Amino acid sequence: DCADSTGEGACRPGAARTGTPAPLPLPVLGRDVRVPLVTGGEVPYAALDQAASAPALQRVWDDVAAYAPYYGSVHRGAGHLSQLSTELYEQSRRTVAEFLGCRADDEVVFTRATTDSLNLLASVLPAGTRVFVFETEHHASLLPWRAHDVTVLDAPRSPEQAVAALEEALHGAPRGPKLVCVTGASNVTGEVWPVRELARAAHRHGARLVLDAAQLAPHRPVDLAELEADWVALSGHKLYAPFGAGVLAGRADWLRAAGPYLAGGGASRTVTRGADGGVDVAWHTGPARHEAGSPNVIGAYALASACRALREAGFDRLVAREEELLGRLRRGLAEIPQVRELSLFGPEADRVGVLSFVVDGWNSSHFAAALSAEHGIGVRDGLFCAHPLLRTLLGREQDAPGECGAPDAGAGEQALNAIRVSFGAGT
Ligand code: PLP
Repeated sequence: DCADSTGEGACRPGAARTGTPAPLPLPVLGRDVRVPLVTGGEVPYAALDQAASAPALQRVWDDVAAYAPYYGSVHRGAGHLSQLSTELYEQSRRTVAEFLGCRADDEVVFTRATTDSLNLLASVLPAGTRVFVFETEHHASLLPWRAHDVTVLDAPRSPEQAVAALEEALHGAPRGPKLVCVTGASNVTGEVWPVRELARAAHRHGARLVLDAAQLAPHRPVDLAELEADWVALSGHKLYAPFGAGVLAGRADWLRAAGPYLAGGGASRTVTRGADGGVDVAWHTGPARHEAGSPNVIGAYALASACRALREAGFDRLVAREEELLGRLRRGLAEIPQVRELSLFGPEADRVGVLSFVVDGWNSSHFAAALSAEHGIGVRDGLFCAHPLLRTLLGREQDAPGECGAPDAGAGEQALNAIRVSFGAGT
């Protein structure tokens, strides 16, 4: 392919041949980073670990830089910059609500990231809530519910099986509040889950559904109303914004009925000395209830900027581009007989730009290290914070030691881990 190809396969005379397709018009930071190779020389860095954290869009950075000199505290100050910041913070909330297809009475709470959003939701579940999750979940969507009754479902082998398994589990569940937590796109296989069908199944049995869109939102439109989901959680740093801000958006009732996620200023409307000598407090309703403390205004602003940029670029183009890259990657990998792609739903599954594999005879950590040292390609190796899923995919019953995402075995051993390649807008 040509460095400056039109994207339609035509190379202009004299265009450099680079072996990479034309980039989307969504420039990201770090594109000009060059890395030294152990074999000598240096090459442009290939950032193919975007499922962990995606590089921020240049436009997001520019937006933040334009705003940064003028910020002030939100919701409290009478001064001009406080007023301006409050307006931008609340405008960011509206932008995110629109990006996520929120319904009129949905609440949009700014959090630190997906993990924080799901822990917030776990903290407001009504007493006695039974939670249903598949074993395939990222630890962020698997672990926050452990203080409640949790039913863990086996990994399904097709989207239809996922819906059927959920139906069956909910059918046999006792009465009372129920929540289903499901990831829209797997951070390991990239496979897209049947969110609307699962939400419908949940609702048929009086359950609610929260969508972990950490991996889906950077690649596909997420519309709460259309997906019929009750809540959605996502992270700014995976959506081409910097670290530090995320969102929980959805039904207001459970959020309003429960006490605040964090106690402190901003969440409290009035605080008085109680008759018993203690402290009484009336909490805000609305998003402020769960946003105690000084909020991450710049993070929220950056997240909203990324939402606008993605919408304007158009998901149709992003998806087409990713499918082209995915096709090239898979054709290349198919030529290496030792490579085994990891998949639950099979080769024809709908997937985003995330793909994991193992290489027979290779320790995945060594393989990933070699890609970096010898080719300047940054990928991820490990268990991707989805230990039960990796055990199922790799067919290993034996526990292996190791941190979330860290190498698990010594030299020469075929470890319980895999290699993940991931890309997105701007790749
Ligand atoms: N859910 C999924 C599917 C993820 O891939 C991740 C991060 O890798 C998370 C949740 C947690 O996101 P964060 O670390 O931004 O809280």
